[in-house]
Amino acid sequence: MQKDWQDTLHRGDILLIDGGMGTELQKRGVPMNEVVWSGAAVLTDPDIVRAAHEDFILAGANVIITNTFGSTRQMLEPAGYGDKIEVVHRDAVRLACQARDNVAENPVAVAGSISSEPHNFDRDGFLSPDKELAAYREAAGLLADAGVDLIALEMMVDAEHSVRALQAALETELPVWLGVSCRKSEDGRIVSFDHQDIEFSAILDALIPMGPSVVNIMHSEMDAIPEAIEMVQQRWSGPIGVYPESGYFTQPHWKFVDIIQPADLVTEALGWVGAGVRLLGGCCGIGTQHIEALRAAMPDLEAARQN
Ligand SMILES: [Zn+2]
Repeated sequence: MQKDWQDTLHRGDILLIDGGMGTELQKRGVPMNEVVWSGAAVLTDPDIVRAAHEDFILAGANVIITNTFGSTRQMLEPAGYGDKIEVVHRDAVRLACQARDNVAENPVAVAGSISSEPHNFDRDGFLSPDKELAAYREAAGLLADAGVDLIALEMMVDAEHSVRALQAALETELPVWLGVSCRKSEDGRIVSFDHQDIEFSAILDALIPMGPSVVNIMHSEMDAIPEAIEMVQQRWSGPIGVYPESGYFTQPHWKFVDIIQPADLVTEALGWVGAGVRLLGGCCGIGTQHIEALRAAMPDLEAARQN
């Protein structure tokens, strides 16, 4: 198992993650599915998936995240891919490992993504609690068996479904990155990215005590992040990461509107690192140029860390 990422964090150094895989695939012409978004892309467009991973590694990512955000049984079965769950996970990990073998000159870890999103992003689309937990266990087990270095939970946006996903991920005994997503509500509170009525603090209180290895504020709105970092720090003394979104989603496509410029992402990241953040990258809308800019700014980011 690749452990350089842990050594980097242990030293207090900065770890660079990739950008948003789903939106990168959309940008490269991979059709997005109405039900599972990019969840089946490894079946239809494996060469593009591998190339996107390679380009993120070449841009400077230390960690790449598999294209399995939309690949749990909860997502794939209603889309007619119920018999493809295993091959989707296995191929997603294989493509990420191939990309690493093809182009990496430095150690690169492969993180297996799992989300708790239901199909069509429809909140009525969750499986029953037992089946839902089984679906996360299935995904986590397949990722672990295929050889990921860690599990990256992504878009944990509530306390109910996310707890099941985190439980399943922890059962693999791999390191687990807890990815929580937030935004600012109209009245200025930090709330779940998907649900104005769920306080971000309630999500943190439910999940952090379960024992992740890293807490990432991911797929979150840029203007919510400084406050979100403080909220995580009130509850967590371990490594904290930030990989934000930019643009917006209109099912099934990302709208690349008002995407933050790479230089502006670097400016924001300097502030996050100064506040204690040690993992940086991007989620939806954030591409290879952003990761390149973060890599190029590493001397400045390291200096910001020491302040
Ligand atoms: Zn995202």
